[in-house]
Amino acid sequence: MRFIAILLSLLLMPSLSSAQEQVGKIKVLTTFSILQDMAKNVGGDKVEVETIVPPGQDVHSYQLSPDDIKRAASAHILIANGLGFESWLDKLVQSSGFSGKLVIASTNAMWIPLGKDDTKSTMFKQKGNNYDPHAWQNLNNGRVYVANIVKGFAEADPDNEKLYNQNGIVYRKKMMELDQSAAAQFRKIPDDRRKMATFHDSMGYFARAYRIKYLTLKGPDSSDDISAQDTAQFIAVIRQENVGAIFAESQEDLSIMRQVASESGKKLSGRIYSDTLGRKKNIDDSYLNIYRHNVNAVLAAMGVSVN
Ligand SMILES: [Zn+2]
Repeated sequence: MRFIAILLSLLLMPSLSSAQEQVGKIKVLTTFSILQDMAKNVGGDKVEVETIVPPGQDVHSYQLSPDDIKRAASAHILIANGLGFESWLDKLVQSSGFSGKLVIASTNAMWIPLGKDDTKSTMFKQKGNNYDPHAWQNLNNGRVYVANIVKGFAEADPDNEKLYNQNGIVYRKKMMELDQSAAAQFRKIPDDRRKMATFHDSMGYFARAYRIKYLTLKGPDSSDDISAQDTAQFIAVIRQENVGAIFAESQEDLSIMRQVASESGKKLSGRIYSDTLGRKKNIDDSYLNIYRHNVNAVLAAMGVSVN
């Protein structure tokens, strides 16, 4: 009888525990670099975190490789943004036969419905998904993402639940502090200067958090097509609104926004990090660092000197 009980418990044991015993660390795969950083902050040395889309690359137009499928097949936890951000997510899960824990980081975040935000003006024609997927561009949502990751890790590895919770609390506090300091600085800027423009509709959550009027050339999917007429209209609106903060995004070619700025009679304000981290240590290699960079860059473009 005892033998049967042991056998049964072995059969019921989730694959995670046996695999984890062999490798020591939980294998986590994230879809893009911002989630990879969040997962590292929560998991510390208990997890090994890889990302599918590397820093600097565009998630929207990413093509899955056979190696990605292989990595998903052997991952214990897969963390994705959701909201249609990763158009290739279903294919990844199905082709790899992934059977671990799937964490959708944007669950319970504050989502912005597409086409219903009157603070935004964009040239794109809406299609497909109902919500803007770039929800991490608001630090309150960032805190929800972290809560979801903590929950996923704790369910998959209950032995270390306390540690994940503690790491989550420390990390979420840093996000709250950065958000409060950013909000205090943006409040000092008059409304008529609080305007910004980017290539694709990736900073809508950021703009709403700090009451910035936001203009974009493309919709939330940067792989959509645009016409010369769209660009001309965009330039006309930038001129009319007198937008001073015009940014290229780190994963995109600079040339289009440089042309937009110059034809609007403005200068390009630099680069912003929307959908990816960079690779420069302590500069653009973490979620908090890119968010801080974006806050400072936008403030500077609106005429506030930032130390
Ligand atoms: Zn995007």
